Amino acid sequence: MSDRVCLAHYHEIGLKGKNRSTFENQLVTNLRRTLRDADLGEVRRISGHILVSAASGRVSEEMADAISRVPGVARVSLAYLCGLDQVEYCKAAVSALHEAGEFRSFKVHARRSATAYELHTLEINQLVGEVLCNEFPDKKVEMHDPDVVVYVLVVQGNVYVYASSQVGVGGLPVGTAGKVVTLLSSGFDSPVATWMVGRRGATCVPIHFSGRPMTADTSEWLCQDICRALRPSGVVGRMYVVPFGERQREISLAVPQSLRIITYRRVMLAVAERLAHIEGAKALVTGESLGQVASQTLDNIAAVNEVVSMPVLRPLIGSDKQEIMRRAQQIGTHELSSQSVEDCCTLFMPRRPETHARMEAVHAAWNSFDHDAMIDQLVETMEYVDFDQCPSYRPPKSIRAYHTELAPAFTRDNAD
Ligand code: ATP
Ligand code: MG
Repeated sequence: MSDRVCLAHYHEIGLKGKNRSTFENQLVTNLRRTLRDADLGEVRRISGHILVSAASGRVSEEMADAISRVPGVARVSLAYLCGLDQVEYCKAAVSALHEAGEFRSFKVHARRSATAYELHTLEINQLVGEVLCNEFPDKKVEMHDPDVVVYVLVVQGNVYVYASSQVGVGGLPVGTAGKVVTLLSSGFDSPVATWMVGRRGATCVPIHFSGRPMTADTSEWLCQDICRALRPSGVVGRMYVVPFGERQREISLAVPQSLRIITYRRVMLAVAERLAHIEGAKALVTGESLGQVASQTLDNIAAVNEVVSMPVLRPLIGSDKQEIMRRAQQIGTHELSSQSVEDCCTLFMPRRPETHARMEAVHAAWNSFDHDAMIDQLVETMEYVDFDQCPSYRPPKSIRAYHTELAPAFTRDNAD
């Protein structure tokens, strides 16, 4: 019996002109990392696809599944790998069509690439078509819009045959769009926002503000679990944690109740921007969605945004909660995000938060404490944890030296 291999298909990459090979190479690297613990043979580019083979010769459904979750993969087909022998690839076509589920009509679509094979595509279509017609006498051959297409791909000395494929997450390979710092809480929204910019090719560096030492560190653990849950997509290489509890207490004593949240958020965004400069990231990302909660009105978004000059991306701004929850299910963060834990947001919450902040009041609150010193101090006490799942993540040189002393505070179980 022929070996089984996966063919990963991509479409957007194909549109990128001379960047194409950079994109393909990144996708190959990312697939290798994702499948590192699987029974992996080789991963390489062949004729507009990425070929993934298994060491044992047979790629499993689980491997195909993992491939489908890697950004940049539009579709995955579990193909039969045959030689140029006609009997062998016709037999594979019969097996592939048997696996295609319910159908009434089909056609054969042959393609050749970099091959001196004696048969041309029309001849291959005819040859394989005849065998399939004999094997499936009650099915119709339909040239326009058939239920199933049996693909026969001749590349150099091999023939790949498949009739069905599963949908992938699409997007672009992580590592092709630069770096972003994402503000990550353990709620539903920000893990989804992180995944979404990651799916567009960005390497994501989450930063989480915890209520420590005024609250337990549960939210930090949960955020670590969320980063691990995102492992199949390979979007996160390192997460930073900022213990924010003491500073929040200071803010809560200094500013009017109704402006506490806006003030916390301004500090958080300013610290995130400082981290972005250290990391060489070009934008910040939040999980905000317009009008979802009091802090997400246009007035309040403007009041918070004012403290940074870097672009702030809000991939969920137009999404409904239901859509966000469905996406969280799909990417594997829903269950983790359903656990309600204390983080810095639940700490010192005002009874009536401002929904339409006036700038003069926001500025007065901001100037009532030494915000610059606070931001410096928070950047100094940042901790981090690494995840070995994102090949495009490169730690900044400056922080590597600087953090060898600071990081041990967060040397928890890094195994993922
Ligand atoms: P989420 O579901 O992501 O927690 P939310 O609906 O609770 O969002 P807010 O609490 O207003 O909304 O938070 C808005 C955004 O601010 C979040 O999506 C996230 O990007 C950022 N954010 C909130 N809390 C934190 C935190 N503790 N650490 C880092 N970023 C945070
Ligand atoms: Mg939240």
